[in-house]
Amino acid sequence: TDAHVAAVEKARPLNAYILETPDRARAMAKASDAKLAKGEGGALEGIPLGIKDMFATEGVRTTACSKILGEFVPTYESTVTSQLWRDGAVMLGKLNNDEFAMGSSNETSAFGNVINPWRAKGSTENLVPGGSSGGSSSAVAARLCLGATGTDTGGSIRQPAAFTGIVGIKPTYGRCSRWGIVAFASSLDQAGPFARTVRDTAILMTSMAGHDPKDSTSVNIPVPDYEKAVGRSVKGLKIGVPKEYRVDGMPAEIEKLWQQGRDVLKAAGAELVEISLPHTKYALPAYYIVAPAEASSNLARYDGVRYGARVAGKDITAMYENTRAAGFGAEVKRRIMIGTYVLSAGYYDAYYVRAQKVRTLIKRDFDEAFAAGVDAVLTPTTPSPAFAIGSKGSADPVEMYLNDIFTVTVNMAGLPGISVPAGSSTEGLPLGLQLIGRPFDEETLFALGQVIE
Ligand code: GLN
Repeated sequence: TDAHVAAVEKARPLNAYILETPDRARAMAKASDAKLAKGEGGALEGIPLGIKDMFATEGVRTTACSKILGEFVPTYESTVTSQLWRDGAVMLGKLNNDEFAMGSSNETSAFGNVINPWRAKGSTENLVPGGSSGGSSSAVAARLCLGATGTDTGGSIRQPAAFTGIVGIKPTYGRCSRWGIVAFASSLDQAGPFARTVRDTAILMTSMAGHDPKDSTSVNIPVPDYEKAVGRSVKGLKIGVPKEYRVDGMPAEIEKLWQQGRDVLKAAGAELVEISLPHTKYALPAYYIVAPAEASSNLARYDGVRYGARVAGKDITAMYENTRAAGFGAEVKRRIMIGTYVLSAGYYDAYYVRAQKVRTLIKRDFDEAFAAGVDAVLTPTTPSPAFAIGSKGSADPVEMYLNDIFTVTVNMAGLPGISVPAGSSTEGLPLGLQLIGRPFDEETLFALGQVIE
């Protein structure tokens, strides 16, 4: 813990941590020492972790990296983080993310952008760490913690993991409790871990998962010991390669990476088959209706009364308006406007109901592949390696949204997806491959992921 606290201080220019909690970390580490001395202690005893600022932490400022939460200090702990502390983990601090987890580059955070510890060969240009969990990915890659938590609504764990050369998994919807996590789009949000290896990620996931009566969408089924799946044979597993992911203009280096992944799995005894997921092309447009719709509803609670910041006005309506005008950033406002529009009378059926129908079709595509015996689906995680800070999305937000093209379908279908480091770009930047599994079969993803990493 001392070594990590020192490393975190030294790496402040990366802006991965927005709040350091060294005193709490040392106290937790001391308690772990005492337990270990008595021969007790959990699976994560004394392991220092970073926590994405979307997780409520009791007595520790939680802001979702938005000005609207101000200096909000929760009086409660999220279920996922409380399970990590139950098993002995140590909290080093809170990690930066895109405001309310809306973004793919960590550039929408009220605390400023995060720097990716990787740089292209021969370049001094700073790159994004991915998003929205950019603080988590940067911190794990830069050795500023042994693991971190993330949330993934459309790719926010897998894409940053790919951009920084680490492992990240979005579990099946319902696997981890959402209680105490700041809500973005409740039907898509899932918590998951980041770590440097598949094995470490599996160990963290065993601690984070599990049924919680406080989240009605959390599923009451046993949590396997995921570490046992790491190293398991993948012989005979059927891996689907969806032809619709071969998008126009896919860079040659991504195509090559994907081929290498197929070769590695084949050499390990898996069977590769081409599959079709015909509704893939509708996933991104449908996501950008469903996610903003839910966000506009979830974010209605920030009214200047219940949480954090307030800007006075001549009457209560003016106070709401002033608070929300000053408290939300541009991307969040854009989502609220889109969401309010697609949910409004007259447009609801044309946009929102349609997007929900498309969502069912996307899910059905995967159901059919799994029914035909496919055990997991292999795709690239992202269409490119990490890009330069400030280079994308400022003129056209859709340019940024396109980054999620391979990841959003997984959230729309509620499936588990893992990103594992699988190679590097021509400029020496990390690239990731994504494996998508059957519902609640994260174990197969850990087994396959370990073969690829
Ligand atoms: N980049 C996507 C978005 O902005 C996904 C974000 C996420 O998974 N939280 O909505």
